[in-house]
Amino acid sequence: MGFRDECGVVGVIMSPSRPPSDYPARLAYFALHSLQHRGQEGAGIVVAEPTAGADGAGALRDMKGLGLVAEVFTDRELMRTSAVAAVGHVRYSTAGEKNVRNVQPFTATVRGEQVAIAHNGNLTNANALKRELETRGTIFSTSSDTEVILHLMAQSVYGGSGDTQARLTDALGHVEGAYALCVLTLRELFAVRDPRGFRPLVLGRIASGEPAWMVASESCALDMVGAEVVREVEPGELIAIDRVTGSLRSLFPFPRQQRKACIFEHIYFSRANSDVFGRSVYMSRYRFGELLARSSPIPGGADYVLPVPDSGVAAALGFSAASGIPFQMGIMRSQYVGRTFIQPTQEIRDAGVKLKLSPVRCMIADKRVVVVDDSVVRGTTSRKIVRLLRGAGAKEVHLRIACPPIIGSCYYGVDTPNREELISFRLPADQQVCEWIGADSLGFLSLEAMQEFLGDEADDFCYGCFTGKYPVLPVD
Ligand code: AMP
Repeated sequence: MGFRDECGVVGVIMSPSRPPSDYPARLAYFALHSLQHRGQEGAGIVVAEPTAGADGAGALRDMKGLGLVAEVFTDRELMRTSAVAAVGHVRYSTAGEKNVRNVQPFTATVRGEQVAIAHNGNLTNANALKRELETRGTIFSTSSDTEVILHLMAQSVYGGSGDTQARLTDALGHVEGAYALCVLTLRELFAVRDPRGFRPLVLGRIASGEPAWMVASESCALDMVGAEVVREVEPGELIAIDRVTGSLRSLFPFPRQQRKACIFEHIYFSRANSDVFGRSVYMSRYRFGELLARSSPIPGGADYVLPVPDSGVAAALGFSAASGIPFQMGIMRSQYVGRTFIQPTQEIRDAGVKLKLSPVRCMIADKRVVVVDDSVVRGTTSRKIVRLLRGAGAKEVHLRIACPPIIGSCYYGVDTPNREELISFRLPADQQVCEWIGADSLGFLSLEAMQEFLGDEADDFCYGCFTGKYPVLPVD
Protein backbone atom coordinates (compact mmCIF):
# COMPACT_ATOMS: atom_id res chain seq x y z
CA MET A 1 0.00 0.00 0.00
CA GLY A 2 1.21 3.50 -0.73
CA PHE A 3 1.03 6.51 1.50
CA ARG A 4 -2.42 7.92 1.89
CA ASP A 5 -3.91 10.49 4.18
CA GLU A 6 -7.11 12.45 4.32
CA CYS A 7 -7.10 13.88 7.76
CA GLY A 8 -7.89 16.83 9.96
CA VAL A 9 -5.37 19.04 11.74
CA VAL A 10 -5.50 21.69 14.43
CA GLY A 11 -3.02 23.94 16.19
CA VAL A 12 -3.57 26.16 19.24
CA ILE A 13 -1.19 28.61 20.87
CA MET A 14 -2.07 30.67 23.93
CA SER A 15 -0.82 34.19 24.61
CA PRO A 16 2.07 34.66 27.08
CA SER A 17 -0.04 36.33 29.74
CA ARG A 18 -3.08 34.18 29.44
CA PRO A 19 -4.07 32.17 32.48
CA PRO A 20 -4.22 28.52 31.54
CA SER A 21 -7.94 28.27 32.22
CA ASP A 22 -8.47 27.51 28.55
CA TYR A 23 -6.37 24.40 28.40
CA PRO A 24 -4.92 24.26 24.88
CA ALA A 25 -5.28 20.49 24.71
CA ARG A 26 -8.95 20.80 25.55
CA LEU A 27 -9.44 23.38 22.82
CA ALA A 28 -7.64 21.05 20.41
CA TYR A 29 -9.83 18.18 21.61
CA PHE A 30 -13.08 20.00 20.83
CA ALA A 31 -11.70 21.16 17.51
CA LEU A 32 -10.75 17.58 16.63
CA HIS A 33 -14.19 16.47 17.67
CA SER A 34 -15.72 18.71 15.05
CA LEU A 35 -13.18 17.43 12.49
CA GLN A 36 -13.99 13.80 13.26
CA HIS A 37 -15.59 13.36 9.84
CA ARG A 38 -12.10 13.84 8.33
CA GLY A 39 -10.77 10.69 9.95
CA GLN A 40 -11.93 8.04 12.34
CA GLU A 41 -9.01 5.65 12.61
CA GLY A 42 -7.04 7.44 15.27
CA ALA A 43 -6.47 10.76 16.97
CA GLY A 44 -3.63 12.49 18.73
CA ILE A 45 -2.74 15.70 20.53
CA VAL A 46 0.74 16.93 21.43
CA VAL A 47 1.07 19.73 23.99
CA ALA A 48 3.99 22.06 24.62
CA GLU A 49 4.88 22.36 28.28
CA PRO A 50 7.78 24.81 28.48
CA THR A 51 8.21 24.45 32.23
CA ALA A 52 7.74 20.71 32.51
CA GLY A 53 10.45 18.13 32.98
CA ALA A 54 12.87 17.58 35.85
CA ASP A 55 15.44 20.04 34.51
CA GLY A 56 12.80 22.63 33.63
CA ALA A 57 13.88 22.43 29.99
CA GLY A 58 10.33 21.87 28.80
CA ALA A 59 8.74 19.01 26.96
CA LEU A 60 6.38 18.13 24.15
CA ARG A 61 4.02 15.48 25.42
CA ASP A 62 1.87 13.32 23.24
CA MET A 63 -1.39 11.53 23.83
CA LYS A 64 -2.76 9.42 21.04
CA GLY A 65 -4.56 6.26 20.21
CA LEU A 66 -6.61 4.32 17.71
CA GLY A 67 -10.32 5.11 17.64
CA LEU A 68 -12.57 8.13 17.80
CA VAL A 69 -11.65 11.43 19.43
CA ALA A 70 -14.10 10.80 22.28
CA GLU A 71 -12.42 7.45 23.01
CA VAL A 72 -8.78 8.41 22.87
CA PHE A 73 -8.33 11.19 25.45
CA THR A 74 -9.04 11.56 29.14
CA ASP A 75 -10.02 14.78 30.93
CA ARG A 76 -7.02 14.58 33.20
CA GLU A 77 -4.59 14.46 30.29
CA LEU A 78 -6.32 17.31 28.49
CA MET A 79 -6.23 19.65 31.46
CA ARG A 80 -2.50 19.75 32.10
CA THR A 81 -2.03 23.20 33.53
CA SER A 82 1.50 23.71 32.27
CA ALA A 83 0.51 23.30 28.60
CA VAL A 84 0.64 26.49 26.54
CA ALA A 85 0.13 25.19 23.03
CA ALA A 86 -1.08 22.09 21.24
CA VAL A 87 -1.33 20.43 17.85
CA GLY A 88 -3.82 17.72 17.05
CA HIS A 89 -4.72 15.31 14.28
CA VAL A 90 -7.47 12.92 13.26
CA ARG A 91 -6.41 10.15 10.92
CA TYR A 92 -8.41 8.62 8.12
CA SER A 93 -8.75 4.89 8.05
CA THR A 94 -7.21 3.06 5.12
CA ALA A 95 -7.06 -0.68 4.54
CA GLY A 96 -4.36 -2.62 6.28
CA GLU A 97 -2.51 0.15 8.06
CA LYS A 98 -4.28 0.30 11.40
CA ASN A 99 -1.31 0.87 13.60
CA VAL A 100 -0.98 3.31 16.46
CA ARG A 101 2.49 4.18 15.21
CA ASN A 102 0.86 5.92 12.24
CA VAL A 103 -1.31 8.10 14.46
CA GLN A 104 -0.15 11.72 14.37
CA PRO A 105 1.11 14.21 15.48
CA PHE A 106 4.61 12.75 15.16
CA THR A 107 7.23 14.04 17.54
CA ALA A 108 11.00 14.08 17.19
CA THR A 109 14.00 15.91 18.53
CA VAL A 110 15.57 17.64 15.59
CA ARG A 111 19.05 18.92 16.43
CA GLY A 112 18.20 19.51 20.02
CA GLU A 113 14.77 21.01 19.41
CA GLN A 114 11.57 19.10 20.08
CA VAL A 115 9.17 19.20 17.15
CA ALA A 116 5.66 17.85 16.63
CA ILE A 117 4.01 17.67 13.22
CA ALA A 118 0.42 17.10 12.09
CA HIS A 119 -0.21 16.73 8.35
CA ASN A 120 -3.25 16.60 6.10
CA GLY A 121 -2.63 15.72 2.48
CA ASN A 122 -0.55 13.37 0.44
CA LEU A 123 3.00 13.93 -0.79
CA THR A 124 3.44 12.80 -4.37
CA ASN A 125 7.19 12.12 -4.14
CA ALA A 126 7.34 10.65 -0.62
CA ASN A 127 8.38 7.15 -1.74
CA ALA A 128 11.21 8.52 -3.86
CA LEU A 129 12.41 10.73 -1.00
CA LYS A 130 12.10 7.84 1.42
CA ARG A 131 14.29 5.60 -0.73
CA GLU A 132 16.86 8.37 -0.98
CA LEU A 133 16.82 8.97 2.78
CA GLU A 134 17.14 5.26 3.46
CA THR A 135 20.27 5.01 1.35
CA ARG A 136 21.71 7.65 3.67
CA GLY A 137 20.90 5.50 6.67
CA THR A 138 17.56 6.95 7.78
CA ILE A 139 15.37 4.49 9.65
CA PHE A 140 11.62 5.00 9.25
CA SER A 141 9.35 3.99 12.06
CA THR A 142 5.97 4.61 10.42
CA SER A 143 4.47 4.05 6.97
CA SER A 144 3.32 7.65 6.72
CA ASP A 145 4.63 10.18 4.22
CA THR A 146 4.67 12.79 6.99
CA GLU A 147 7.71 11.18 8.57
CA VAL A 148 9.68 12.11 5.44
CA ILE A 149 9.29 15.78 6.36
CA LEU A 150 10.75 15.21 9.83
CA HIS A 151 13.79 13.36 8.44
CA LEU A 152 14.34 16.03 5.81
CA MET A 153 14.29 18.60 8.63
CA ALA A 154 16.78 16.60 10.65
CA GLN A 155 19.16 16.38 7.70
CA SER A 156 18.76 19.97 6.59
CA VAL A 157 21.97 21.95 6.48
CA TYR A 158 20.05 25.14 7.09
CA GLY A 159 19.43 26.85 10.37
CA GLY A 160 21.35 26.60 13.58
CA SER A 161 20.07 24.87 16.66
CA GLY A 162 16.56 26.12 17.37
CA ASP A 163 15.90 27.40 13.87
CA THR A 164 12.96 25.16 13.09
CA GLN A 165 11.55 27.57 10.56
CA ALA A 166 14.62 27.40 8.30
CA ARG A 167 14.72 23.61 8.48
CA LEU A 168 11.00 23.24 7.90
CA THR A 169 11.16 25.54 4.88
CA ASP A 170 14.13 23.64 3.53
CA ALA A 171 12.42 20.28 4.02
CA LEU A 172 9.23 21.45 2.34
CA GLY A 173 11.28 22.70 -0.60
CA HIS A 174 11.98 19.02 -1.40
CA VAL A 175 8.48 17.62 -1.11
CA GLU A 176 5.78 17.76 -3.76
CA GLY A 177 2.04 17.32 -3.59
CA ALA A 178 -0.42 18.26 -0.91
CA TYR A 179 0.18 19.39 2.63
CA ALA A 180 -1.64 21.43 5.21
CA LEU A 181 0.61 21.30 8.27
CA CYS A 182 0.62 22.30 11.90
CA VAL A 183 4.09 22.14 13.41
CA LEU A 184 4.77 22.80 17.08
CA THR A 185 7.93 23.49 19.07
CA LEU A 186 8.17 24.61 22.68
CA ARG A 187 8.11 28.19 21.50
CA GLU A 188 6.37 28.40 18.14
CA LEU A 189 3.42 27.16 16.15
CA PHE A 190 3.79 26.96 12.38
CA ALA A 191 0.93 26.61 9.93
CA VAL A 192 1.84 25.84 6.32
CA ARG A 193 -0.03 25.11 3.11
CA ASP A 194 1.52 23.75 -0.06
CA PRO A 195 1.88 26.23 -2.94
CA ARG A 196 -1.21 24.91 -4.74
CA GLY A 197 -3.30 24.86 -1.61
CA PHE A 198 -4.87 21.47 -2.28
CA ARG A 199 -6.01 20.97 1.29
CA PRO A 200 -7.72 23.60 3.44
CA LEU A 201 -6.31 25.38 6.48
CA VAL A 202 -7.86 28.35 8.24
CA LEU A 203 -6.47 30.79 10.80
CA GLY A 204 -8.53 31.94 13.75
CA ARG A 205 -8.23 33.99 16.86
CA ILE A 206 -9.46 32.65 20.13
CA ALA A 207 -11.86 35.38 21.20
CA SER A 208 -11.42 37.72 24.15
CA GLY A 209 -8.30 39.05 25.82
CA GLU A 210 -4.78 38.59 24.54
CA PRO A 211 -4.04 37.14 21.14
CA ALA A 212 -4.33 33.41 21.25
CA TRP A 213 -4.37 31.71 17.90
CA MET A 214 -5.83 28.62 16.38
CA VAL A 215 -5.42 26.99 12.97
CA ALA A 216 -7.60 24.16 11.74
CA SER A 217 -8.53 22.25 8.60
CA GLU A 218 -12.03 23.70 8.61
CA SER A 219 -13.83 26.67 10.09
CA CYS A 220 -16.24 24.36 11.93
CA ALA A 221 -13.38 23.58 14.34
CA LEU A 222 -12.99 27.26 15.17
CA ASP A 223 -16.73 27.68 15.59
CA MET A 224 -16.73 24.79 18.00
CA VAL A 225 -14.53 26.59 20.53
CA GLY A 226 -15.87 30.09 19.89
CA ALA A 227 -12.79 31.21 17.95
CA GLU A 228 -13.25 33.81 15.27
CA VAL A 229 -12.15 33.06 11.72
CA VAL A 230 -9.44 35.50 10.64
CA ARG A 231 -8.62 34.18 7.17
CA GLU A 232 -7.38 31.19 5.21
CA VAL A 233 -3.74 30.26 5.45
CA GLU A 234 -2.85 31.11 1.84
CA PRO A 235 -1.47 28.52 -0.59
CA GLY A 236 2.32 28.58 -0.23
CA GLU A 237 2.16 30.51 3.02
CA LEU A 238 4.06 29.71 6.17
CA ILE A 239 2.69 31.36 9.30
CA ALA A 240 4.89 31.35 12.41
CA ILE A 241 3.36 32.32 15.73
CA ASP A 242 5.73 32.97 18.62
CA ARG A 243 4.31 32.24 22.04
CA VAL A 244 6.81 34.37 23.91
CA THR A 245 6.58 37.57 21.85
CA GLY A 246 2.99 36.93 20.74
CA SER A 247 4.01 37.87 17.17
CA LEU A 248 2.60 36.34 13.99
CA ARG A 249 4.83 36.28 10.90
CA SER A 250 3.61 35.45 7.43
CA LEU A 251 6.07 34.26 4.78
CA PHE A 252 5.82 32.93 1.24
CA PRO A 253 9.03 30.93 0.94
CA PHE A 254 8.08 28.74 -2.04
CA PRO A 255 7.78 29.58 -5.76
CA ARG A 256 4.24 30.72 -6.59
CA GLN A 257 1.95 28.23 -8.31
CA GLN A 258 -1.55 28.31 -9.70
CA ARG A 259 -3.92 27.60 -6.84
CA LYS A 260 -5.50 24.12 -7.05
CA ALA A 261 -7.88 23.63 -4.15
CA CYS A 262 -9.58 20.25 -3.93
CA ILE A 263 -13.15 20.53 -5.20
CA PHE A 264 -13.99 17.30 -3.38
CA GLU A 265 -13.81 19.19 -0.09
CA HIS A 266 -16.93 21.00 -1.25
CA ILE A 267 -18.57 17.94 -2.76
CA TYR A 268 -18.11 15.52 0.10
CA PHE A 269 -15.24 15.82 2.50
CA SER A 270 -15.76 18.98 4.53
CA ARG A 271 -18.61 19.53 6.91
CA ALA A 272 -21.55 21.49 5.52
CA ASN A 273 -21.33 24.12 8.30
CA SER A 274 -17.74 25.01 7.34
CA ASP A 275 -16.47 27.72 5.06
CA VAL A 276 -13.70 26.14 3.05
CA PHE A 277 -11.48 27.96 0.52
CA GLY A 278 -13.47 31.07 1.34
CA ARG A 279 -16.91 29.65 0.46
CA SER A 280 -19.73 27.98 2.30
CA VAL A 281 -19.69 24.22 1.80
CA TYR A 282 -23.43 24.02 2.36
CA MET A 283 -24.14 26.61 -0.34
CA SER A 284 -21.89 24.83 -2.85
CA ARG A 285 -23.77 21.58 -2.29
CA TYR A 286 -27.14 23.28 -2.46
CA ARG A 287 -26.20 24.99 -5.72
CA PHE A 288 -24.82 21.75 -7.17
CA GLY A 289 -28.25 20.23 -6.46
CA GLU A 290 -30.08 23.10 -8.14
CA LEU A 291 -27.86 22.93 -11.21
CA LEU A 292 -28.30 19.18 -11.35
CA ALA A 293 -32.09 19.52 -11.33
CA ARG A 294 -31.86 21.88 -14.29
CA SER A 295 -29.43 19.79 -16.32
CA SER A 296 -30.90 16.35 -15.46
CA PRO A 297 -34.66 16.65 -15.02
CA ILE A 298 -36.69 13.52 -14.30
CA PRO A 299 -38.45 12.25 -17.41
CA GLY A 300 -42.17 12.17 -16.56
CA GLY A 301 -41.65 13.81 -13.12
CA ALA A 302 -41.43 12.20 -9.68
CA ASP A 303 -43.25 12.22 -6.33
CA TYR A 304 -40.36 12.87 -3.96
CA VAL A 305 -36.72 13.86 -3.79
CA LEU A 306 -34.90 11.75 -1.19
CA PRO A 307 -31.37 12.57 -0.02
CA VAL A 308 -28.81 9.92 0.78
CA PRO A 309 -28.16 10.96 4.37
CA ASP A 310 -26.02 12.76 5.35
CA SER A 311 -23.85 13.39 2.33
CA GLY A 312 -26.66 14.16 -0.11
CA VAL A 313 -28.92 16.35 2.03
CA ALA A 314 -27.87 19.85 0.94
CA ALA A 315 -27.77 18.86 -2.74
CA ALA A 316 -31.19 17.18 -2.47
CA LEU A 317 -32.66 20.36 -0.96
CA GLY A 318 -31.30 22.33 -3.91
CA PHE A 319 -32.62 19.74 -6.33
CA SER A 320 -36.05 19.86 -4.74
CA ALA A 321 -36.18 23.67 -4.78
CA ALA A 322 -35.16 23.89 -8.44
CA SER A 323 -37.38 21.02 -9.66
CA GLY A 324 -40.42 21.70 -7.50
CA ILE A 325 -40.46 18.02 -6.45
CA PRO A 326 -41.11 17.76 -2.68
CA PHE A 327 -38.19 16.82 -0.42
CA GLN A 328 -38.68 13.94 2.01
CA MET A 329 -36.36 12.12 4.39
CA GLY A 330 -37.25 8.77 2.84
CA ILE A 331 -34.03 7.11 3.91
CA MET A 332 -32.98 7.14 7.56
CA ARG A 333 -29.39 6.85 8.65
CA SER A 334 -28.32 5.08 11.79
CA GLN A 335 -26.28 7.43 13.95
CA TYR A 336 -24.25 4.57 15.28
CA VAL A 337 -22.56 3.23 12.18
CA GLY A 338 -19.43 4.79 10.73
CA ARG A 339 -18.90 5.62 7.11
CA THR A 340 -19.36 2.48 4.97
CA PHE A 341 -16.62 3.51 2.61
CA ILE A 342 -13.86 2.94 5.09
CA GLN A 343 -14.44 -0.77 5.61
CA PRO A 344 -11.65 -2.80 4.08
CA THR A 345 -13.43 -5.56 2.14
CA GLN A 346 -16.26 -5.49 -0.36
CA GLU A 347 -18.33 -7.97 1.71
CA ILE A 348 -18.18 -5.76 4.78
CA ARG A 349 -18.95 -2.71 2.69
CA ASP A 350 -22.03 -4.44 1.22
CA ALA A 351 -23.38 -5.34 4.63
CA GLY A 352 -22.46 -1.88 5.88
CA VAL A 353 -24.94 -0.07 3.65
CA LYS A 354 -27.84 -2.07 5.09
CA LEU A 355 -26.69 -1.47 8.62
CA LYS A 356 -26.47 2.23 7.97
CA LEU A 357 -29.49 3.13 5.83
CA SER A 358 -33.15 2.14 6.24
CA PRO A 359 -36.09 3.06 4.00
CA VAL A 360 -39.16 4.93 5.28
CA ARG A 361 -41.78 2.80 3.52
CA CYS A 362 -44.66 5.29 3.41
CA MET A 363 -42.48 7.70 1.43
CA ILE A 364 -41.41 5.06 -1.03
CA ALA A 365 -44.07 2.39 -1.70
CA ASP A 366 -45.72 2.97 -5.11
CA LYS A 367 -43.83 6.25 -5.49
CA ARG A 368 -41.53 7.55 -8.19
CA VAL A 369 -38.53 8.76 -6.22
CA VAL A 370 -35.38 10.74 -7.04
CA VAL A 371 -32.40 9.82 -4.90
CA VAL A 372 -29.72 12.49 -4.62
CA ASP A 373 -26.19 11.74 -3.42
CA ASP A 374 -22.99 13.74 -3.49
CA SER A 375 -20.85 11.26 -5.44
CA VAL A 376 -20.49 7.76 -6.83
CA VAL A 377 -17.13 6.11 -6.27
CA ARG A 378 -17.26 2.32 -6.63
CA GLY A 379 -21.04 2.37 -7.07
CA THR A 380 -21.61 0.08 -4.10
CA THR A 381 -23.68 2.55 -2.09
CA SER A 382 -25.91 3.60 -4.98
CA ARG A 383 -26.57 0.04 -6.08
CA LYS A 384 -27.54 -1.00 -2.56
CA ILE A 385 -29.77 2.02 -2.12
CA VAL A 386 -31.61 1.35 -5.35
CA ARG A 387 -32.21 -2.24 -4.21
CA LEU A 388 -33.31 -1.04 -0.79
CA LEU A 389 -35.86 1.33 -2.33
CA ARG A 390 -37.18 -1.25 -4.77
CA GLY A 391 -37.50 -3.64 -1.84
CA ALA A 392 -39.61 -0.98 -0.09
CA GLY A 393 -41.94 -0.88 -3.10
CA ALA A 394 -40.66 2.11 -5.12
CA LYS A 395 -42.28 2.32 -8.56
CA GLU A 396 -39.33 4.18 -10.09
CA VAL A 397 -35.91 5.09 -8.72
CA HIS A 398 -34.02 7.92 -10.43
CA LEU A 399 -30.50 8.58 -9.25
CA ARG A 400 -28.99 12.06 -9.41
CA ILE A 401 -25.37 12.70 -8.42
CA ALA A 402 -24.21 16.19 -7.48
CA CYS A 403 -20.74 15.88 -9.05
CA PRO A 404 -19.26 14.59 -12.31
CA PRO A 405 -18.32 10.90 -12.81
CA ILE A 406 -15.14 10.02 -10.89
CA ILE A 407 -12.70 8.39 -13.29
CA GLY A 408 -9.31 8.90 -11.61
CA SER A 409 -7.61 8.28 -8.28
CA CYS A 410 -6.64 11.20 -6.11
CA TYR A 411 -2.92 11.71 -5.44
CA TYR A 412 -3.39 14.61 -3.08
CA GLY A 413 -5.04 13.05 -0.09
CA VAL A 414 -8.62 12.01 -0.82
CA ASP A 415 -8.90 8.29 -0.35
CA THR A 416 -10.24 7.24 -3.75
CA PRO A 417 -9.45 3.67 -4.73
CA ASN A 418 -7.42 2.55 -7.76
CA ARG A 419 -9.16 3.68 -10.88
CA GLU A 420 -9.92 0.06 -11.85
CA GLU A 421 -12.36 0.03 -8.92
CA LEU A 422 -14.13 3.25 -9.94
CA ILE A 423 -17.44 2.42 -11.55
CA SER A 424 -17.31 5.36 -13.98
CA PHE A 425 -13.83 4.32 -15.09
CA ARG A 426 -14.89 0.70 -15.59
CA LEU A 427 -18.10 1.67 -17.38
CA PRO A 428 -17.44 4.89 -19.28
CA ALA A 429 -21.02 5.38 -20.52
CA ASP A 430 -23.42 6.73 -17.87
CA GLN A 431 -26.08 4.40 -19.27
CA GLN A 432 -23.92 1.38 -18.41
CA VAL A 433 -23.41 2.71 -14.89
CA CYS A 434 -27.16 3.25 -14.60
CA GLU A 435 -27.81 -0.37 -15.61
CA TRP A 436 -25.20 -1.75 -13.22
CA ILE A 437 -26.67 0.27 -10.37
CA GLY A 438 -30.17 -0.76 -11.41
CA ALA A 439 -31.75 2.71 -11.47
CA ASP A 440 -34.45 3.85 -13.91
CA SER A 441 -32.32 6.85 -14.85
CA LEU A 442 -29.02 8.37 -13.78
CA GLY A 443 -27.72 11.92 -14.07
CA PHE A 444 -24.41 13.44 -13.00
CA LEU A 445 -23.66 17.13 -12.59
CA SER A 446 -21.44 18.12 -15.50
CA LEU A 447 -17.96 19.51 -14.91
CA GLU A 448 -18.91 22.54 -17.00
CA ALA A 449 -21.89 23.31 -14.75
CA MET A 450 -19.70 22.97 -11.68
CA GLN A 451 -17.07 25.27 -13.14
CA GLU A 452 -19.67 27.78 -14.20
CA PHE A 453 -20.87 27.92 -10.61
CA LEU A 454 -17.28 28.54 -9.43
CA GLY A 455 -17.03 31.39 -11.93
CA ASP A 456 -13.76 33.35 -11.81
CA GLU A 457 -12.37 30.85 -9.32
CA ALA A 458 -12.88 27.80 -11.56
CA ASP A 459 -9.16 27.60 -12.43
CA ASP A 460 -8.27 27.69 -8.73
CA PHE A 461 -9.62 24.16 -8.18
CA CYS A 462 -8.26 20.68 -8.90
CA TYR A 463 -10.56 18.35 -10.87
CA GLY A 464 -8.07 15.48 -11.30
CA CYS A 465 -10.52 12.79 -10.17
CA PHE A 466 -13.01 13.85 -12.89
CA THR A 467 -10.60 14.54 -15.74
CA GLY A 468 -7.54 12.37 -15.06
CA LYS A 469 -5.48 15.54 -15.60
CA TYR A 470 -3.35 16.20 -12.54
CA PRO A 471 -1.73 19.50 -11.57
CA VAL A 472 1.26 17.67 -10.01
CA LEU A 473 2.23 14.35 -11.55
CA PRO A 474 2.96 11.72 -8.91
CA VAL A 475 6.60 10.65 -8.89
CA ASP A 476 5.89 7.56 -6.78
P1 AMP B 1 -19.31 4.04 -3.35
O1 AMP B 1 -20.27 3.16 -2.65
O2 AMP B 1 -17.93 3.43 -3.42
O3 AMP B 1 -19.79 4.50 -4.71
O4 AMP B 1 -19.12 5.32 -2.45
C1 AMP B 1 -19.98 6.42 -2.61
C2 AMP B 1 -20.38 6.95 -1.27
O5 AMP B 1 -19.23 7.16 -0.46
C3 AMP B 1 -21.11 8.26 -1.43
O6 AMP B 1 -22.32 8.17 -0.71
C4 AMP B 1 -20.19 9.29 -0.84
O7 AMP B 1 -20.89 10.13 0.03
C5 AMP B 1 -19.14 8.52 -0.09
N1 AMP B 1 -17.75 8.94 -0.44
C6 AMP B 1 -17.32 9.54 -1.54
N2 AMP B 1 -15.98 9.74 -1.50
C7 AMP B 1 -15.55 9.28 -0.33
C8 AMP B 1 -14.27 9.20 0.32
N3 AMP B 1 -13.17 9.68 -0.24
N4 AMP B 1 -14.23 8.65 1.55
C9 AMP B 1 -15.34 8.17 2.12
N5 AMP B 1 -16.56 8.20 1.57
C10 AMP B 1 -16.69 8.74 0.35
